[in-house]
Amino acid sequence: MKLAPFQYAAPTTVAEAVALLGSCDAKALSGGQSLMPILAFRLAAPELLVDLKHVQGLDRIVIDATGVTLGAKVRWCDIEGDARLAVAHPLLAEAIKHVAHYQIRNRGTVGGSLAHADPAAEMPGIAVACDAVLTLVGPKGARKVAAADFFEGALQTCLAPDELITEVLLPVWPKARRWGFQEFARRRGDFALAGIAAFYDVDSEGRAANTHIGVIGASDRPRRLALAEAAFDGKPASPDSIAAAARAASLEVDPPSDIHAPADYRRALVETMVERALTHAAR
Ligand SMILES: Cc1cc2nc3c(=O)[nH]c(=O)nc-3n(C[C@H](O)[C@H](O)[C@H](O)COP(=O)(O)OP(=O)(O)OC[C@H]3O[C@@H](n4cnc5c(N)ncnc54)[C@H](O)[C@@H]3O)c2cc1C
Repeated sequence: MKLAPFQYAAPTTVAEAVALLGSCDAKALSGGQSLMPILAFRLAAPELLVDLKHVQGLDRIVIDATGVTLGAKVRWCDIEGDARLAVAHPLLAEAIKHVAHYQIRNRGTVGGSLAHADPAAEMPGIAVACDAVLTLVGPKGARKVAAADFFEGALQTCLAPDELITEVLLPVWPKARRWGFQEFARRRGDFALAGIAAFYDVDSEGRAANTHIGVIGASDRPRRLALAEAAFDGKPASPDSIAAAARAASLEVDPPSDIHAPADYRRALVETMVERALTHAAR
């Protein structure tokens, strides 16, 4: 189908982009990897596309004492190509390898993925699992929103129509942290039927502390699994504690049934993915 007619603007600053977004029924255009199909299917017909291509300052990857900050226009291939991230945030580096296919990784962006809020997407899942904080800029200035509060449902966020995501901060990653990322998709590069990002620190007695287990593809939004985390936290990593966490996770999720997989299958996948992710972490 042909796209519905729209106006086009290519601002060079965040302030101009925000003003344009607020001027009418407008949509930001980043890599176009979700927006263009949506327009082509006429699921949306904005009056104005605000192309972020020339907006300055949104494509930086900054690694400092606060953690890793990804600008909204950072693409998957930028993350893949930045060798520093394998040390500064190995969980992110691993998860992004699973995003889509080569061509899409060359254009798809962090900001577009967060704003699109697909429940099976890797970046939103990593953001929630890692307690990331998003910066949103609107006409009244900037606000910070925890990733856990940003996602409100499938393709739903708290982003206002005249707000732009400018960056996301993943808090600092201790070197000794144990982590694992596992997902299952029918073909490599497809959206995950279910995926797990897990990490924990080890206390002086050798027990798991600060356990975080996040799930994608098995809920209406990315989320942490509090019961699974509690089942593992405070215990030494062992086949028993890992199995207990995996079982708790499978009972805790409420996955959808859709054309890709029934709910029971996704629930079983969650159990297996938690087991594999924590086993990888423990090794
Ligand atoms: C065939 C295919 C397979 C895919 N597989 C995967 C996968 O396995 N895993 C995965 O995670 N993703 C996958 N994707 C999604 C892809 O990786 C992109 O992340 C996603 O489509 C967002 O694209 P984009 O960055 O080009 O944003 P766009 O398509 O340009 O925009 C997406 C939405 O975000 C809004 N937006 C964009 N930038 C901002 C901003 N800075 N502030 C506010 N709003 C903004 C737009 O208005 C639009 O609503 C797939 C996509 C395709 C087409």
